[in-house]
Amino acid sequence: MAAKSVIRKGTKVLEGGGSSQFIGIEPDAAIVVAPLVGMDEMISIDLHSFWEINPAVHLVCLGDNCPCCTLGNESGFKAYLPVLTREGESKIFAFGIGVARQFSELEEEVGSLAGKLVKIRRAGSGLRTRYTVTGLGKSIDISTATPADIESQLGPFDLPAIIRKLEENGLAEAEQFEDLLPSKKEKPEPKAKKTAEPAPKGKKPVKPAPEETEKKADDWEDGEESEDWDA
Ligand SMILES: [Zn+2]
Repeated sequence: MAAKSVIRKGTKVLEGGGSSQFIGIEPDAAIVVAPLVGMDEMISIDLHSFWEINPAVHLVCLGDNCPCCTLGNESGFKAYLPVLTREGESKIFAFGIGVARQFSELEEEVGSLAGKLVKIRRAGSGLRTRYTVTGLGKSIDISTATPADIESQLGPFDLPAIIRKLEENGLAEAEQFEDLLPSKKEKPEPKAKKTAEPAPKGKKPVKPAPEETEKKADDWEDGEESEDWDA
């Protein structure tokens, strides 16, 4: 694993095709980007990550009705900012709570980060990864840049699609989530059943939830694609 990341250069070709809109930082490297918005427009979610499979699967936490929480997986804070790279590419930078705090601290010092060059250095990998955010004291013109559409890169956000992802990746069986998905219980009570008990009220068959077939990229969270230039 380590050797692999050492010899990889430039842009990683992602499995399943398509180029990532995310910008990542290789271990012990740094990037310089200009956020296209200030922290007040930072998008954040709670994210479940299933590292036990490779590539890891990342799914949005749905809160009260979340199948990943049902499985005991703990979600973590994940935030996203649209940024402009040194090459003038519009990308998405994804980060955790530590970097978010550093961005906020920097913004308190220098004002909105929109258009300001920031250097983000990554030290180490895995659980020992540390990031350091530094303002470079320079601004660039971002008036012609179009921020990447972050929300379209996240998701799925709907319960059936998330359950299907869990199933596809062998992380769970749909039956485990019957409590969350009452619409799956579509079988009406058998009519000819002769019992002394009165028929239960309100047990109408419910329409199954519409199938969402749209497939989202698996790689949206960790930004492994690297623009590995020195900063
Ligand atoms: Zn959850």
